[in-house]
Amino acid sequence: MSVEERELLRSQIVELQRISSLGVLAGSIVHELNNALTPILNYAKLGLRTNDPDYRTKSFEKILDGAQRATSIAGGVLGLIRPRADRREPADLGRLVEDIVMITVKDLQKHRVQLDLKINSRPLAVVNPAQIQQVLLNLVINARQAMPDGGRITVVVGADAEGKWGEIRISDTGMGISPSHLRRIFEPFFTTKSPDSTGLGGTGLGLPVCRDIVEAHRGRMRVESKPGQGATFTLRLPVHVEAIAAETPPAKAS
Ligand code: ADP
Repeated sequence: MSVEERELLRSQIVELQRISSLGVLAGSIVHELNNALTPILNYAKLGLRTNDPDYRTKSFEKILDGAQRATSIAGGVLGLIRPRADRREPADLGRLVEDIVMITVKDLQKHRVQLDLKINSRPLAVVNPAQIQQVLLNLVINARQAMPDGGRITVVVGADAEGKWGEIRISDTGMGISPSHLRRIFEPFFTTKSPDSTGLGGTGLGLPVCRDIVEAHRGRMRVESKPGQGATFTLRLPVHVEAIAAETPPAKAS
């Protein structure tokens, strides 16, 4: 296989993996959109029926709220479905995480999983935002799937002590990973997920694709886990050098 063929295959796998993660969420995303559209419809009807100007203004405000919510859900999903070509830009890692929380929250509620988000700081990193969100989405879905009876996901965003690395940590209270599996989870096609009622099992491509994306950003991905005690996945991405420069006071002239 030529280098070009291998690269093409690699980008197709990344693409398929992203679409399959979105597929897991499709039902909940449509449900969320519908929740945002319901008040729009109801307040439009109520507003049309009344002559009270205050009530009309209130209806318009509710319609605007619902429409803004629907737009931000649709925007978040579209960004993931059609990522712009491999264009990197300085992005606030806290913001990338918040967008993923917004589109997964319904699915998590449905599976009795609570998500706690802690943003200690908002490091800027030069990334392809859709690709990093694809990694986050995959880690959140894996965490949820490790807790079939519900549980808690904790996401912490911050930076290392020197401010050189942006860090995102995703922990769950799920079944955890045995040491023999821990050695293999980044191998392509390694999966412990058997087919569910829809006949869909794991592909074993999620984590290798995540690691590939993170390393292509000169970042690192790490996992810590003990069976029965949940798992913690940590991503580290280099902080945008100009952001570091802006925070470092210039050296004193001697
Ligand atoms: P898939 O999700 O298709 O199985 P992945 O590459 O994403 O593929 O994951 C590989 C395996 O790693 C999973 O089948 C599971 O055994 C394990 N794994 C991943 N994330 C977690 C987690 N948060 N808790 C427990 N096991 C996990």
